[in-house]
Amino acid sequence: MQDQKRLEIIDEEMPRMRAAFDFMLDHPETGYREWQATEYLAAEYESLGYTLTRAGDIPGFYTDLDTGRPGPKILILGELDALKVVGHPHEDPETHAAHACGHNAQSAALLGLAAALKAPGMLDGLSGSIRLCAVPAEELVELDFREELRQNGVIAYYGGKQEFLRRGYFDGCDLAYMIHTGGGKHHFQINLHSNGCILKTATFMGKATHAATPRLGINALDAATLAISGINALRTTFRDIEFCRVHPILTEAGTAVNSVPSRVLMENQVRAASVDACKTLNANVNRAVAAGALAMGAGVHLCDRPGYLPGSFNEKLGKICMDACAALVGAENALLNADPLRHETGCTDMSDLSAVMPAVHIYGSGAKGAGHSVDYRVDDFDCALGESAKAQLLILCRLLENGAAAAKDVLSDAKVTFAARADYFAYLDSIFKDVDAVTYGEDGRISIDL
Ligand SMILES: [Zn+2]
Ligand SMILES: [Zn+2]
Repeated sequence: MQDQKRLEIIDEEMPRMRAAFDFMLDHPETGYREWQATEYLAAEYESLGYTLTRAGDIPGFYTDLDTGRPGPKILILGELDALKVVGHPHEDPETHAAHACGHNAQSAALLGLAAALKAPGMLDGLSGSIRLCAVPAEELVELDFREELRQNGVIAYYGGKQEFLRRGYFDGCDLAYMIHTGGGKHHFQINLHSNGCILKTATFMGKATHAATPRLGINALDAATLAISGINALRTTFRDIEFCRVHPILTEAGTAVNSVPSRVLMENQVRAASVDACKTLNANVNRAVAAGALAMGAGVHLCDRPGYLPGSFNEKLGKICMDACAALVGAENALLNADPLRHETGCTDMSDLSAVMPAVHIYGSGAKGAGHSVDYRVDDFDCALGESAKAQLLILCRLLENGAAAAKDVLSDAKVTFAARADYFAYLDSIFKDVDAVTYGEDGRISIDL
């Protein structure tokens, strides 16, 4: 089938994509709660004739399509989750969830692609197979809820793609890509490098007393502010090339102004460009946190959880994707950014896929306003839905035509951070930490455990 005919079939799917977009916009759900989106999309996929494998105890599903000819399996993903943004025009008034990162547009575009792939003749000339996946929980929010799911044995990891990897839902997939709705200068852009992160909480434990007699208590808020000062002092040690970020917030900082705060909760995240830099930064921040507690004679409990891996996206796959996008929107509107100095400082669990298989994370267009803010909105549906679905289709065709020659070429010399999945999970598991970092013995001895 000619490309032009393929693109016209996507055009016919605009009403279906727009309806899915609107449904999710009106029913925003944060990570691992995307049940309404899952049910809506599952019904759509099933009405198209797809057989779904549902995650079941968490939202999301995947489905396979075979060309009937042997070749690699291409994984294409759409994320389901919303954020929490108070004051967003499409905020759920009860949960404050809102689609302020455009994941509803991703899911709608993937549905449009799914519909088009069922059109007669669409798979002619292609070899290999396709896995389409509606994946939950990309945004790292509501960490207490995710920890509860983890403690209950429902999930092992906070990120939806990490969890789907663990469950084997991506086993047998060879290459992966997705298009995230953005609003940059270019219609399509790939950044080959992005930060990884580690998630952290620190619970400072002091001793309450009347605020007028602070010498009788231990001020946990002072311990936390000293910790933040220590973290800020560490910033002078960051190497520019590692793109380190650390941004603590206090989510509990005292209960009554006339009592010395006895418990303060710090949520924190460290981000950096490499696994080693993430680990080093994490260790240094833990030291600063312990020092803050120690200065005041407070205790502190550290809880570290794996965030996302640094993005190490495949350049050859990226070039195929951007060439396909360029054919759609012009070369001036499709940018492959391989410059390590124009590093993406945000994090995504698409990076985790890039650590175990050749993958790319593509930014599309059609949105305005700052991501994760009340201003973010998708206002160009031709770009965010139609153009995105078309680009995904053309990329798929370029990879799988001619006996899947391009996909096989990517695989022929692809290098990933973790060739063995077990090593990837061992890394994630090495990050978990639950420790009382500063404790005081009855004999006056102080113990530091980092
Ligand atoms: Zn986001
Ligand atoms: Zn996003």
